[in-house]
Amino acid sequence: MQPSATPKRRGGAIESAKVDYSLARKAVLRAFHGGRLGRYEICDAHPDLIRAANYSGEQTTDPCPICERGPLVLVSYVFSDELPKIENGKVWDRTNLNPLLAFKEARLYTVEVCRDCSWNHVRSQVVVGNGRTTRRAPKRGRRAST
Ligand SMILES: [Zn+2]
Repeated sequence: MQPSATPKRRGGAIESAKVDYSLARKAVLRAFHGGRLGRYEICDAHPDLIRAANYSGEQTTDPCPICERGPLVLVSYVFSDELPKIENGKVWDRTNLNPLLAFKEARLYTVEVCRDCSWNHVRSQVVVGNGRTTRRAPKRGRRAST
């Protein structure tokens, strides 16, 4: 899970860091195949995630690593301190990052999900935004006494 340090432009938005969860995914799959994790511990997608996969997901050609049936579907969620509380964690089209330029920083989590067996795992986390700091009015401080 090494974050990449080089900022990249993607769809006009600046990607400043990306965390790849493929090593964590491999560890979970290794534990499953080694009998240390049960299927019900890892195939536990929340009904809202399955619903998001059905209606807003991006279908891949990757087979499910557990049931080997249906192709995996990617669902992305956006989080930002600048979003209204009710919109934090809403499903986001990860091919359209431009609206996120309005924010200094937003985090986009992409989850892979299997609609057949409910396998789910975070695939990546990307930090997107304009990187600008919002200027705050200077605090009134005490004058240094002389
Ligand atoms: Zn599956």
